[in-house]
Amino acid sequence: NGLKKYFPITGGVLGRKKGEVKAVDDVSFFVKKGETLGIVGESGCGKSTTGRLLMRLIESSDGTILFEDKEVTKMSKSELRKIRRDMQMVFQDPYASLNPRHTVEKILEEPLIVHGIGSKQERKKRVKEMLEVVGLSSYHARRYPHQFSGGQRQRIGIAKALMTKPKLIIADEPVSALDVSIQAQVLNLLKDIQTEFQLTYIFIAHDLGVVRHISDRAGVMYLGRLIELADCEELYENPKHPYTRALLSAVPIPDPDIKRQNFSIHGEMPSPSNPPSGCAFHTRCSECMDICTVTRPPYQEMTKGHYTACHLFSK
Ligand code: SF4
Ligand code: MG
Repeated sequence: NGLKKYFPITGGVLGRKKGEVKAVDDVSFFVKKGETLGIVGESGCGKSTTGRLLMRLIESSDGTILFEDKEVTKMSKSELRKIRRDMQMVFQDPYASLNPRHTVEKILEEPLIVHGIGSKQERKKRVKEMLEVVGLSSYHARRYPHQFSGGQRQRIGIAKALMTKPKLIIADEPVSALDVSIQAQVLNLLKDIQTEFQLTYIFIAHDLGVVRHISDRAGVMYLGRLIELADCEELYENPKHPYTRALLSAVPIPDPDIKRQNFSIHGEMPSPSNPPSGCAFHTRCSECMDICTVTRPPYQEMTKGHYTACHLFSK
């Protein structure tokens, strides 16, 4: 609710604060149990920062985070450690998140040791089980990360996230680094384990097709702001915000019978350290009105479950 993350920019010999980057600027949304909420946007839009804020891997500048009615933002270190069993993250680059000097077994065991879960024997058993869940086998437990392909490494990353039996997984571009053929396999694996373990996902990606494939609802971010959110079908078939429409019109449609109006985005993405006044998209919007340059459009529910922040739809 109202989540913000402002990073100070310092400079000069004295390292004085020169300004700030509003990486996440007043973002609010909820995720329903058992669903996948996609968050999509171009690089630098704040989607990864949002994911890290939710996990409290970085601290927010403002706003509240609730997990099953418990206020994560107010938790002490020890409360946070406890709740992290329930919230796990899968990263874009599994290689960077897996210790190269540790065997897969040691890597997978680690979250259990951190949380004091199970005896040595129980931990080993769980490692074996989770390797099988992600399509590997206990044979792989004694190997090292470099002995695996990118897709296999992401499977290990997913197994690691599953070790503590989490309820929520925040996946930050989990397939972006993989070949397209492997992407589908990993996405299908994520879908299968979601059903098997009744997981809730927040799925962050820049690829609109990938987000559509996996999500029940999806939100679009631009320059630190959530600008539209709806059920996936609604968002992709009936996008409202000019930025969403432009993003989607850039995606080729395989069906030649479907005609989509073409929206273009002109100009470059402004710097997040100096975002445009009013609507952050106004410098690139083909429908910009006077009010857009001065007043920030409120993020509002237009029709049931379809939210947008654009003066064209303001109530
Ligand atoms: Fe375009 Fe104005 Fe809507 Fe922003 S608020 S997207 S500038 S029409
Ligand atoms: Mg990112």
